[in-house]
Amino acid sequence: FSYPLPVNEPVLNYAPGSKEREQLKVTLATLKAETLDIPMYIGSEQVFTKNKISIHPPHERKYTLGQFSMGDKKHVQQAIDAALAAKEKWAALSWESRAGIFLKAADLIATKYRFHMNGTTMLGQSKNAYQAEIDSACEIIDFLRFNVHFLSEIYKQQPISGPGMHNRLEYRPLEGFVLAVTPFNFTAIGGNLPTSAAMCGNVVVWKPANTQVYSAQMFMRILKEAGLPDGVINLIYVNGPELGEVCFSHRDFAGVHFTGSTGVFNTMWETIGKNIGRYKSYPRIVGETGGKDFVIAHKSADPAVVATALLRGAFEFQGQKCSAASRAYIPSNIAKEVKKKLVEGINSFKMGMVEDFSNFINAVIDERSFDKIKNYIDKAKKDKDASILAGGSCDKKNGYFIQPTVIETTNPQYLTMCEEIFGPVLTLYVYPASAFEKTLDLVNNTSPYALTGAIISTDRAAVELATRKLENAAGNFYINDKPTGAVVGQQPFGGGRASGTNDKAGFILNLYRWLSARTIKETF
Ligand code: GLU
Repeated sequence: FSYPLPVNEPVLNYAPGSKEREQLKVTLATLKAETLDIPMYIGSEQVFTKNKISIHPPHERKYTLGQFSMGDKKHVQQAIDAALAAKEKWAALSWESRAGIFLKAADLIATKYRFHMNGTTMLGQSKNAYQAEIDSACEIIDFLRFNVHFLSEIYKQQPISGPGMHNRLEYRPLEGFVLAVTPFNFTAIGGNLPTSAAMCGNVVVWKPANTQVYSAQMFMRILKEAGLPDGVINLIYVNGPELGEVCFSHRDFAGVHFTGSTGVFNTMWETIGKNIGRYKSYPRIVGETGGKDFVIAHKSADPAVVATALLRGAFEFQGQKCSAASRAYIPSNIAKEVKKKLVEGINSFKMGMVEDFSNFINAVIDERSFDKIKNYIDKAKKDKDASILAGGSCDKKNGYFIQPTVIETTNPQYLTMCEEIFGPVLTLYVYPASAFEKTLDLVNNTSPYALTGAIISTDRAAVELATRKLENAAGNFYINDKPTGAVVGQQPFGGGRASGTNDKAGFILNLYRWLSARTIKETF
């Protein structure tokens, strides 16, 4: 079975008056009219508990979209049991059948549930229509189709045989279950992490962030409709510590596929390390964590190109991307012009609810996030070595709204040049235009992260110098573009240092991690 390289799912533009805009509006209204009671999906069961958490759109906090049932340690154990019970049959199913399920899920999203995926993402995560379309429609579809393609390429790779012997590699799933833990910011990460492991024949316990449940359950229902057998992916909602306690002490724990904060990933890794003697096999630990992503402009750069890269890279989806531009290094010769364009850009942004398609900015995910981001902004208002160049107002009365903000600092090691904020805050530092090379060292050494970064320059030699000097500073490096918006199959995504294990989501490198090959030699 060979599946050719797919083409990326075309992005709908939701232009005023377009059919897709009208359809999406109808779906949004339908979703808002119902109050969902969302269960966990464990084996063949839909599990409801008394511990309900209600779901509110971050931009309209008094509105209730529904509620979900929170589980506890007992449910984690049940999910593991259900996964292990499904394992033998799932792994024995032909690869063609497994692939068919995920390809069907991709088609269902493309043709039948596109607006439901986008609608739940827009309302639950406060993502505008365009940002939702590239995430919960196109990127999920691409993840599913490209992973099927890459896996079919892996299965074809076989060792050599010779006279009197036949050698082969059997690409087995891991022995045990895989835990997938996914964040709120991309519905597509929830679409990828559990399915890439499952596609390889693994069984999965999937825990999304509480703030992702609304769209995650939609995807789970689509997987079921596509024919995913019970128990292959079990969707549960529990607190992190309870999840970790049960999963990481289990003999059959085979690996974790994680996207989230560096701190949580480190704690997981430590716990797994402490328990290492308990497991049947060494677990696979795959994680994409934080970022403090840079844009450095060279003196040859066009200020308009720099400003666009920053405005889009820093503020789309309120900066809540691991890849978001959050520190900018601007040469003195173009600083005035770049700053002017940033101020103009920010003043032109419309902010509000996702139902109004003209809003470029919506709310940040929740109150904790709002308070954390606001603290950084408030501190910058007071600190001597920082000032607010644009934006800076915060209001959580109706929703968690933070105006896109640019902090300017005279100190390249200022707090917001170093720490991940995960919100619409960009910190800008102006360097002497003649000190480009020295500034590259600064870029390389300021933050522990290495996820994404960009160089803006029309000078080839400067581009080359930056590419070489920053070789370990970003797993995704962009030349003359914003550092966000990686497309599956085009820019395999992931970073090193404190940003993760760099196993490149949606690419062949990632899939190898969920396989345990057996070499078989037969002599005759
Ligand atoms: N893949 C996304 C991008 O390129 C970022 C994913 C993330 O935030 O984890 O913008």
